[in-house]
Amino acid sequence: MKLSNRITHITPGGSDGWEVFYKARALKNAGAAVTELTIGEHDIRTHPSILEAMHASAKGGHTGYAAVPGTQALREAVATRIQTRTGVATGPENILITPGGQAALFATHNAVCNEGDTALFIDPYYATYPGTIRGIGAKPQAIPAYPENGFQPRAADIEKHAKGATSLLINTPNNPTGAVYTPETLQAIAQTCIEHDIWLISDEVYDTQIWDGTHLSPRALPNMADRTLVVGSMSKSHAMTGSRVGWICSHEDVIEHLINLATHTTYGVPGYIQDAALFALNEGSPLEDEVSAPFARRRKITEALLATQNIVKGSPISGAMYAMLDIRATGLSGQDFANDLLDIHQIATMPGESFGTAAAGHIRVAMTIDDEAYTKALQTLLDFAKDHAA
Ligand code: PMP
Repeated sequence: MKLSNRITHITPGGSDGWEVFYKARALKNAGAAVTELTIGEHDIRTHPSILEAMHASAKGGHTGYAAVPGTQALREAVATRIQTRTGVATGPENILITPGGQAALFATHNAVCNEGDTALFIDPYYATYPGTIRGIGAKPQAIPAYPENGFQPRAADIEKHAKGATSLLINTPNNPTGAVYTPETLQAIAQTCIEHDIWLISDEVYDTQIWDGTHLSPRALPNMADRTLVVGSMSKSHAMTGSRVGWICSHEDVIEHLINLATHTTYGVPGYIQDAALFALNEGSPLEDEVSAPFARRRKITEALLATQNIVKGSPISGAMYAMLDIRATGLSGQDFANDLLDIHQIATMPGESFGTAAAGHIRVAMTIDDEAYTKALQTLLDFAKDHAA
């Protein structure tokens, strides 16, 4: 029996650059003491008060089918949050609640791309991007953003691929690079989208994790609100990765069609999860700050340790929970560096090559273990790099 091309082509065969990660997990499962600086997940769990709200909602009977577009209260809360942060008029009709940001990425591409259309995205990229695009039958086209430019995409590089493309997916604050796109970068992106009539899909799941600069949602730029689909999530902002709750914010006509898609795919998000998300959003910025504080601290630790040596170069960690480190001075590829670091010191990192081609010769460190262990692991990594360079 033959499966569809759509599903069998989501991920191409061969190396996916995640071998170091799989090896680290296998070692860990076999009982080895591996320090994992790999996955973008908090070392804290969902706040007990959010779990209490979830429990109370479920006990109260919100366990049946929930409204497919999302509960009115949660759609309103998300709309208010977005309007407050961006100044763009936003109502519940602009919001669809989704089972996390990943489902939103799939749905947004499904909404704007036909089979065979070209969907652009920026390299280095979050692991699922090309597969998500292939999964809806479109053609992924990467646009490189170079380390020399702080991983900010340049207008000229986008322009090269813009002609005939249907959509462009961007992510700021960025995983895996920690870059926060500047207003100039976003203006240039918006300009290209307008000139070439391209939909912009803006993945803003790290919007509460800003260490330098400010988060600017491109939906707020002139003439962009009607061609932008914003992807948001409670995963990173509220340590709710396992709850699977996020949203899409766009023009109400786009949302109408996306609700229809949701009716025929997910059939909504559990009511008690939505009530928990509503509670969490109503707690406002103190809770968001509490969740993001560990990364702010570890970003400082990273910068302080990097400043003690001159072999490993850090790209500016302006946002999110990652440090992208340039290890080219060791003469190793990111892949070889990560492999050796795992074999010799049982420290697992992600080779830059796992995120495309533009971050070759780099490794991504997720700042997702406690401060003391993180400091120790990073120091070992820097000493290891120094030995190699020598
Ligand atoms: N976008 C980016 C850039 C991410 O890093 C992630 C998760 N690592 C997601 C989207 C998806 O997150 P979720 O589905 O948990 O909302």
